[in-house]
Amino acid sequence: MFKNFTEAQTYITEHHIRQVDLKFCDLWGAWHHVTITAREFTPGLFARGVGFDGSSVGFKSVRAGDMVLIPDLGTAFLDPFWEIPTLSFICDIYEADTREPFSRDPRGIARRAEIYLCQTGIADQSIWGPEFEFYVFSNVQFENGVNTACYRLDSIESAWKSGTGGHGHYIALHEGYHAIPPKDQLYNLRAEMVDHLEALGLPVKYHHHEVGGPGQCEIETPLMEFLPAADAALILKYVTKMTALRMGLSVTFLPKPLYGEAGNGMHFHQLLRLKGQNVFYDPDAPYHLSPIARYYIGGLLFHAPALLAFTNPTTNSYRRLVPGFEAPVNCFFSSGNRSAAIRIPKYATEPESFRFEFRPPDATCNPYLAMAAMLMAGIDGIRQQIDPSAHGFGPIDDDIFSWPPERRKSIKSLPTSLGEALQALEADHDFLLAGGVFTPDLIQDWIRRKSAEEAQVRLRPHPYEIELYYSV
Ligand code: GLN
Ligand code: MG
Ligand code: MG
Ligand code: MG
Repeated sequence: MFKNFTEAQTYITEHHIRQVDLKFCDLWGAWHHVTITAREFTPGLFARGVGFDGSSVGFKSVRAGDMVLIPDLGTAFLDPFWEIPTLSFICDIYEADTREPFSRDPRGIARRAEIYLCQTGIADQSIWGPEFEFYVFSNVQFENGVNTACYRLDSIESAWKSGTGGHGHYIALHEGYHAIPPKDQLYNLRAEMVDHLEALGLPVKYHHHEVGGPGQCEIETPLMEFLPAADAALILKYVTKMTALRMGLSVTFLPKPLYGEAGNGMHFHQLLRLKGQNVFYDPDAPYHLSPIARYYIGGLLFHAPALLAFTNPTTNSYRRLVPGFEAPVNCFFSSGNRSAAIRIPKYATEPESFRFEFRPPDATCNPYLAMAAMLMAGIDGIRQQIDPSAHGFGPIDDDIFSWPPERRKSIKSLPTSLGEALQALEADHDFLLAGGVFTPDLIQDWIRRKSAEEAQVRLRPHPYEIELYYSV
């Protein structure tokens, strides 16, 4: 938003800003914040930064955790939820003693991935369009830490029907796609979310009710450059949750909150540009895919098992990647098939915006790390000329679920659990280390901590197990 300090200071004075909120992203993709008074917003802030203890937000376990935050002037936005006029900045993280960029700062990793892309000479810009799917619930009750509705889909529908106040309009299960009011009762909520996003400077392409009914929504932003797109993901998650909260509702991006109903994906549209030209586009090639685009697809699909440890980093992520819900299960690309890991939308045929979407990711990812990992997989595909067709990755435009099981087995599967993805990452991560973008210690720490999380879920008796087997 601001090009220099003076511009920011003028805005603060003119808009009577009283406090300045400094937000930063932890390793897992969640924001933390510290708030300073407008008086403390001085040129010195940009030289000294604001200190914080990195060990308390999972960054440093061994060494002393002193770090500093330096606001990124270009990220300023007026926070719509604060009662006192408050300007927010997204920050970069530096070592307190050396003033070096902190090697595990997710934004820093994203910046290094972009620099690496430029160094390869393949492209000088990567362009991204994330899609955000989420559920809106009312009255989320946890009994002994368990929300029993999650595996009793019938109770969700009856709760919704009984909550309609007798007017009879509701969306049946699986029937929510682009539903119209009065069935779609969340239009005012989404419109308010979008209004806040636009007002704070984040453009929105569209919003609608999604397939999962009742309560699944989607908001899409237009194509953006790498860092603004990753920042946008955190802004959007914050604004949607806060808007709902103020109406007594609750938003969740959990990939599979409901058994038997559509999950929440976060598809990433992507393309590369060199000197303003889309290097993925070739008007004469099949599917309009240039050789660079084919190899990038090859890299994404070849490294997909390891990549999913960053794009789908929770145990719940793998409950979504199952047949029957338009979520991908196999490693192939296609022009129309929504069960494909990569889809080339037929509506995106203009040379400037021609692209494909990588469909496995979900919003439990850290967008900076997930996007850096996808970019690194794509670059590796280009450098090693990984041809997707030579690896059996398509193109396939059939519905593979109509194929006999034997034939379907010929296509590589995506991991079916977090444990599988972490094992794949252990075996295949050199592509992430190129150019010093990811560091070996981060990869090892990620595997160690995510494996512990996986075990914590696996070792707990499941509520539905109790229901099935209690009386054996
Ligand atoms: N909800 C689906 C998923 O989990 C996507 C549905 C769609 O956007 N067509 O990825
Ligand atoms: Mg969409
Ligand atoms: Mg969708
Ligand atoms: Mg999509």
